[in-house]
Amino acid sequence: MAHILHRAFSILACACRASVAPNSPAGGPAASAGPVDSNLIDDLIAANRILTERGILDGYGHVSVRHPGNAQRYLMSRSVAPELATAADIMEHDLDSNPIDARGRTPFLERFIHGEIYKARPDVNAVIHSHSPAIVPFGVSDVPLRPFFHMGAFLGAGAPIFEIRNVAGMTDLLVRNPELGRALAHSLADKPVVLMRGHGSAITGASIPNAVYHAVYLDVTARLSVEAKMLGGNITYLEPEECRLAMATITGTMSRPWELWKRKALGR
Ligand SMILES: [Zn+2]
Repeated sequence: MAHILHRAFSILACACRASVAPNSPAGGPAASAGPVDSNLIDDLIAANRILTERGILDGYGHVSVRHPGNAQRYLMSRSVAPELATAADIMEHDLDSNPIDARGRTPFLERFIHGEIYKARPDVNAVIHSHSPAIVPFGVSDVPLRPFFHMGAFLGAGAPIFEIRNVAGMTDLLVRNPELGRALAHSLADKPVVLMRGHGSAITGASIPNAVYHAVYLDVTARLSVEAKMLGGNITYLEPEECRLAMATITGTMSRPWELWKRKALGR
């Protein structure tokens, strides 16, 4: 009996340590991956402001970037309206979305969107979660969101839709645990964007400027799609080869709008 009780206590003790420091082999506090260049933090702050300015984020939504020194970590602000985020709000998370250095700061409830996409997509280094009103109709309609002008060519064959009901039945629609984050990443597959039915979208990029470009022109594509539909005729969408050729040109120029947007966002 004593042996059984001792064994049970040992398991419980291990579980408690794991809940405190889930990614630390020794059970102690997980070590930070270290500081990052202040220019990257500036990029993260700028992205929050740029996307808020365009209505792609509001009091909700978030932006993250993979830690350049450790691919198993990402950086994102504490739970705060994106436009208010400062360098002091940026928290390091592991890919299970446990905060490494919370210091009393509250992480975003839906941080699993970010951690699970980083796990599934080694090519992704920045993730945006948005509730943009321009995008929501395309997540609840059978009208597809497809590219029809060159700046939206990154969409390629279109954006998949994550149907949370297929994974978890009736929910509050929030990606509030790792299982839902994994299912979302599965729906995203190898695409740059996944629409979330009745909720918003998750947008990815190889860098913060790349992801912000995707978010801005995803929004423009959605709004122009409605205008084109209102004309009443047929829409000519881009062919895959046109998307490929357009992106071969645009990818090399993404720093141009980024420099403008960042300068205006940071007031420099
Ligand atoms: Zn959300």
